[in-house]
Amino acid sequence: MSLTPPDSAAGAVPAPRSVPDLVPGQAPHHLGHVDVWIFDLDNTLYPASCNLFVQVEALIGAFIQDFLKIDAAEAKRLQKEYYRAHGTTLKGLMDHHGVEPAKFLDFVHAIDVTPVPPSPALDAALARLPGRKLIFTNGSVAHAENVMNRLGVAHHFEGVFDIVAAEYRPKPDPETYHALLRRHAIDPRGATLFEDLPQNLVPAHALGMTTILVRTDAEWAQAGADGEHIHHVTDDLVAWLEANTPPAR
Ligand SMILES: [Mg+2]
Repeated sequence: MSLTPPDSAAGAVPAPRSVPDLVPGQAPHHLGHVDVWIFDLDNTLYPASCNLFVQVEALIGAFIQDFLKIDAAEAKRLQKEYYRAHGTTLKGLMDHHGVEPAKFLDFVHAIDVTPVPPSPALDAALARLPGRKLIFTNGSVAHAENVMNRLGVAHHFEGVFDIVAAEYRPKPDPETYHALLRRHAIDPRGATLFEDLPQNLVPAHALGMTTILVRTDAEWAQAGADGEHIHHVTDDLVAWLEANTPPAR
């Protein structure tokens, strides 16, 4: 008589954990493979309706006026022109006028962050997310810390990859995504990026990251919002995290 249980045939080997299909353009069915959660800051981690950009833009205008001794209308024109041509106004000011970036960043981010409501719900949702968490922003570390402290979520993040770390090459410059991955030793296939700007998800998708568009009402944030490079779309970051957080491993 055999002592071997009847189900010990080859077929009884435990099935491997299912691995999501990471073919570009196809969303994984679940996020169980994700161990690094990367978040844009502005208009992603807090609602775009807080309108912090109105304050930042006014300060950028004031900086340009003062630095170049020009009037408000000309400053506004340059601000827009450099943003379009260089990805950030700062890069245009550095390249054309030798502006010292630290001075600019300190000046334009000296804003009132009280329009951002503290978010115990986001704090709880981040606490349940298993894995590392990072901020990836075209702003500065100081600005990110201001906003994260106001939200009450700073303690979740192991780091902020800001425009200084990016050597002033703003998203969506692909080189900046590579620099982020190198700096924080991230395998993009196990990472997500949450973003309110569809174009900033293009390089993330090309690298094999899972992409989540946090949609806003802003007209300028709609171009490409239905692109194949976007795996998931939500109007509400906290609700999406609550619904999609994989179980802790
Ligand atoms: Mg943003």
